[in-house]
Amino acid sequence: MLSKKTVAAIRRFVEPYQVVKGKRFRLADFDPDDTGGLGSESKPRARDLLAHGVEWLAEAQDKLYAQNRWSVLLVFQAMDAAGKDGTIKHVTSGLNPQGCQVYSFKQPSAEELDHDFLWRATRCLPERGRIGIFNRSHYEEVLVVRVHQEILRGQQLPAKLVGRRIWDERLEDIAAYERHLARNGTVILKFFLNVSRKEQKRRFLERLDEPEKNWKFAAADVTERGHWDAYMAAYEAAIRATAARHAPWYVVPADNKWYTRLVVAAAIVDAMESLDLAYPTIDEAQRRELAAARATLAAEG
Ligand code: ATP
Ligand code: MG
Repeated sequence: MLSKKTVAAIRRFVEPYQVVKGKRFRLADFDPDDTGGLGSESKPRARDLLAHGVEWLAEAQDKLYAQNRWSVLLVFQAMDAAGKDGTIKHVTSGLNPQGCQVYSFKQPSAEELDHDFLWRATRCLPERGRIGIFNRSHYEEVLVVRVHQEILRGQQLPAKLVGRRIWDERLEDIAAYERHLARNGTVILKFFLNVSRKEQKRRFLERLDEPEKNWKFAAADVTERGHWDAYMAAYEAAIRATAARHAPWYVVPADNKWYTRLVVAAAIVDAMESLDLAYPTIDEAQRRELAAARATLAAEG
């Protein structure tokens, strides 16, 4: 259990970035360089807080598993070099691997393309009691596919079904899908790591300049950068159409990695705290059974 004071302190890092209603959402209202008023002198404290958060999450995960009622789905979307991988690594560092699975969604396979666009996501959803992490997700279908419409042409949809409203239709379907999941016990949190174009350039240059970071560099990423505005428009439309109380978006400032990680961990703690997770209690009959088992063991001498 976290104290009321701690919960309030955590919420301070979450509230400014949480979007539960899309109607008035504008990406321009969110500053990628925001650090919640903390200067870089706060980095050690932030690291400390993060460590505490991760520790608390490990306990919460254990109860989630024991209860076997809820599942938690964490969706990560971002432009390249926004820090998805590092953030996922940090927030999952204390978790029990048995109760947590990360899926990275790449270009769909031929088999996946032979199904509706939510099929492959469905196959990777977390079971009850588990935490599932989507590194990219079903949202790629209204992001990269929207920016590069030739991908859509490769999806073998009946021509009659591909009209001008296709993106709105897909967004409606995603919203309905997530509502369905939420109604069945999946807690959905969606993170957009909001890096600036300028910071992305700096990180790309770093990847080029530092030999041990060269492997991270993909020439195609620079081409994608050329479509920045189209991506931002697609993200904005996606968040507007799918932000909901039961499936909030978090537009996390991503120009400072230490702050990104803190906000993401805080959002997960905040959401899991509200589930009131607890170990299942046992009834009188079960208690008698345990006592009998104890007696049997003791009788072995
Ligand atoms: P990193 O580069 O950090 O290793 P990544 O997530 O960028 O991680 P890549 O293998 O570089 O991984 O890229 C995966 C690519 O697959 C991305 O360009 C993404 O847009 C693309 N992709 C994911 N889902 C779909 C989809 N449904 N349709 C088309 N392309 C997709
Ligand atoms: Mg990549």
